[in-house]
Amino acid sequence: MVQEEREEKTLERAMVVVAHADDAEFGCSGTVARWRSEGVEVVYVICTDGSKGTGDRAITSQELSEIRSREQVAAGKVLGLKDVVFLGYPDAYLQPTLELRHDIAREIRRHRPDVVICMYPMRSLDGGGWGVGHPDHIASGEATLAAIFPTARDHLTFPDLLEEGLEPHTVSEAWIMGHPEPDHWVDVTGHMDTSNRALAEHTSQIGGSSMEEIGESMKRWRRERAKGKGMKYAESFRRISFQRRLRLLPPSATKP
Ligand SMILES: [Zn+2]
Repeated sequence: MVQEEREEKTLERAMVVVAHADDAEFGCSGTVARWRSEGVEVVYVICTDGSKGTGDRAITSQELSEIRSREQVAAGKVLGLKDVVFLGYPDAYLQPTLELRHDIAREIRRHRPDVVICMYPMRSLDGGGWGVGHPDHIASGEATLAAIFPTARDHLTFPDLLEEGLEPHTVSEAWIMGHPEPDHWVDVTGHMDTSNRALAEHTSQIGGSSMEEIGESMKRWRRERAKGKGMKYAESFRRISFQRRLRLLPPSATKP
């Protein structure tokens, strides 16, 4: 049993599950860009329809949702994603329901990722302001971790998925973004440009900022994370192994 847990798997396929169009670009697109350059296949799953994220009273929810989907698909093209899946749950009302867990488990069984990046599933009261977390982010993180373990793995859970021909799948690792105590840092120094170009596709969400302004704020954020890790720019995660530890290409840093 112990030996089985130590078995390693080479990273070939990844999935990113987030609440909103743009969450992945802000949180992990440097890592995604790097993985794509290493030949890793990446799929995004966006839980909500993005229909509430605007201060513009002239735009309807429907219009906004369509704009944000288009922006996310365009960002996916910049990154070279295999697919962007929209689950279409109403924005701002996301809950970690069985239905959401089922829908995420379906995508996990369909695309069979080795690693799933998801959002931090808890509410922090120490960050102040934005730091308390958007309820959709918390809900998507909780539903994703529940979908990975044990739902996607167990054939008797949601038997309709089996009837669809979707065999059980064990994800090797979950990587939590936005975790206050990360234990893994990915050097994204050579991938800032691709990541920023993907983020720039989310025109409706970046408030008219120029590419330069986006680039500067992402540099600041990633420089902060890279401190003390021997990297210039990094993204940070908490890694959870479910079965097999993933073999990654260097240079990344993991706490011993
Ligand atoms: Zn969000």
